[in-house]
Formats: sequence, C-alpha cells, structure tokens
Amino acid sequence: MTDRPPLLPADPRANYLAHREAIDEGIRRVLHSGWYILGSEVKAFEEEFARFVGAKFGIGVGSGTDALYLALRILGIGSGDAVITVSNTAVATVSAIDLTGAAPVLVDVDTDTFTMDPARLEETIAHHRGPRLRAVIPVHLYGHPAPLEAIVRIARQHGLSVIEDCAQSHGASLDGRMTGTWGDVAAFSFYPTKNLSAIGDGGAVLTSDARLAEQARVLRQYGWRERYISDETGFNTRLDEVQAAILRAKLPTLEAQNERRRAIARIYDELLGDTGFTIPRRRADARHAYHQYTLRVPDRDGLREYLRTNGVGTAILYPVPIHQQRGYRDRVIVGAGGLLNTEALAREILSLPMYPELTDEQVHSIAERVAQGSRIRS
Ligand SMILES: *Cc1c(COP(=O)(O)O)cnc(C)c1O
Repeated sequence: MTDRPPLLPADPRANYLAHREAIDEGIRRVLHSGWYILGSEVKAFEEEFARFVGAKFGIGVGSGTDALYLALRILGIGSGDAVITVSNTAVATVSAIDLTGAAPVLVDVDTDTFTMDPARLEETIAHHRGPRLRAVIPVHLYGHPAPLEAIVRIARQHGLSVIEDCAQSHGASLDGRMTGTWGDVAAFSFYPTKNLSAIGDGGAVLTSDARLAEQARVLRQYGWRERYISDETGFNTRLDEVQAAILRAKLPTLEAQNERRRAIARIYDELLGDTGFTIPRRRADARHAYHQYTLRVPDRDGLREYLRTNGVGTAILYPVPIHQQRGYRDRVIVGAGGLLNTEALAREILSLPMYPELTDEQVHSIAERVAQGSRIRS
C-alpha cells in the first residue's frame, strides 16, 4: 500500500497546467471575439496543423470518429461497399465504417508492433467476396506507424483508397515521412488524452487532394457551399473555436512532448527489459509517438491488480476486440486467416502511465513497482 495519490494512466489536467497561460489566453480571445463557430481560430489551426503534418489541407471536425466518417464519405463510400481495417482498435474506427453503411472487414495484426499485417491484408483482398472493397484504414496503434509502404502498395494494386487512422500518432513518422501523409486522407482525434488534445472533443481530416478537401468542408456543414443552400446531403461536425484556440496553444510543444514520451519509453525499456514481460518493439525506421507504452504480460490481470494496490493506474487498450463486441460482432466480416493474434494480444496487453508531464522519478518508481510485480507474480 502507498499513501501517495495513485498515478493515472493519462493525466489531461497535467497537460492543461503545462500550457495554462497560453490556453487561458486563447479561450479569453475566443470569448471576446463573439465568433464561436468556424472563425479565425479554426482556420488558423487547420493551416498550422496541416503544415505540421505536411499535408496541404486540414478540415477541423467534431471528433476523431467524425473525421473517419467524413474521410469515408468524401471518398464516396457507403452501402454496398466494404472497408478493411483491424479489430484491435478504438471502436470508433469500425463504427465510422458501419455508419456509412459499408461493411467493415477486419484483418489480423502482427504481434511486434500491434499494427495491420500486410500479408493478411493481401490474403483478405484475394479471398474477398461480397460488398465491393473500396478502402483500407491502417491504424497507427499506440503511436507506432503501421507498415505504410506495404499497405499503400497493396491498396494501389487493387484500386483501394487508404485512410490513415492517426488518432494515436500525431507526430509519428516512418522512414522520415509523417503518418497522415501516406494515404489519400488522414483522420486525427484531439480527445483529451491524445498526444495533441483539446479540452473536450475535436478532430481533423487531412488531405493533399484539393477536391477531397473541398468535399469535406461541404459535408461537415449541412452540404453547404453557400450559406443556407445545401448542394448535397451533409451533416454537422465542426471543430469549435474554443477547442481550436486550445489546440493552437498546444501545437507548438507537440514535438517536445513527443520527445519527452520517447525519453520516458527509454527509461521503461531499460528498467523493464529483464522482467520477463515483452516490452514494446519499434521498427528501426519508425519515429514512435508513444501514445501508449504497452507491455505484454501473461498474467496481465494479476499484475494490473498488484499495480493498482500499489498506486499505479494502468489501462487496457483494448480489452475486447471489435469482432467480439455485441454491438458489432454481427456487422463485421473477419478477414482471411482469422484474428488469432488480435485475440491473444487482448488477453496480455497492459499500458503503463504515459504522458509528458511524468517526472523521471515517477517513471522510475512505476518501473520499480512493475519489476516487483514481476518477481512476486512469477
Ligand atoms: C481516439 C480514437 C478514435 C476516435 O476518436 P474520438 O475523438 O474519440 O471520436 C479513433 N481511432 C483511434 C485509434 C483512437 O484512438
């Protein structure tokens, strides 16, 4: 038992306090502007964030889920279509596909990086029957880029679009190229625990295709090109001015904050290397954003309970693969070869506290308790 307050797996309040002055100033600016929806803050943030990632256009929307849904819609994907993604992801990835009326097809992941296995993708495309395949959504889970060069090559060979789910990979890159610039469209989330986070919901669609960007702007606001005139059937998903001002206050520190996450990961790597737990692997050419630091632990639930009673909060992303969830299991197609890796990982994954405001001392003390847990429990 410990008398220190428990360490949380993520701490959005600490991130607010680290940017407090700039955020308070940004919020005040919006309050006094009298313009609260789609004004100068959103426009400036869209440009600044697109420039940061290296895409030509950014479109601010209400959430990461909305960004994925909008990405699919601007590619003309809907009922009668099918879209390939993975089952070990936020339910949002699959729900966005389902919302368009398309069928989600879920392929297995590799156990090193937890991301889509290109061999399984290829097999699944080869064996697919039924609704017409239109797109692939690689998820850069935990901030590690999916194998984009292989996925994009396979998608191109089969005439499929690529939508990157970058909700966990702000600032991650592969072979020197940012996630979010490899596919046709990218979807980002600014949920309060993400690497770049709002104080509420927010998301963005990024693309370098002017036509797709224009279509995203039209669909995010009632299908309007001209105010009050709907050229198409749209909907309403807009990033708020207040959230855009908050994101603008944080964006200049994103690189440094990701660097801090990498430094924390190095400490964990060093102190947990011989615990018998599998520490996260990283491809040599990948710049990991360490949205999560996720171990594989055979007696995961036992270690989790041990850490909880010793003041360390942990998270499981995600405990139940989408194809096993009641709301989705009858609405998804399982890809060729099944989802055995996905199912095995779901039983063993455990994410340790990971956020830039953790001190070295806290990281050491977390690692010590994990190491103790490994000894007591083996
Ligand atoms: C957070 C997340 C989303 C959804 O974002 P929201 O802003 O919560 O709608 C989608 N995909 C992944 C991989 C995520 O982590």
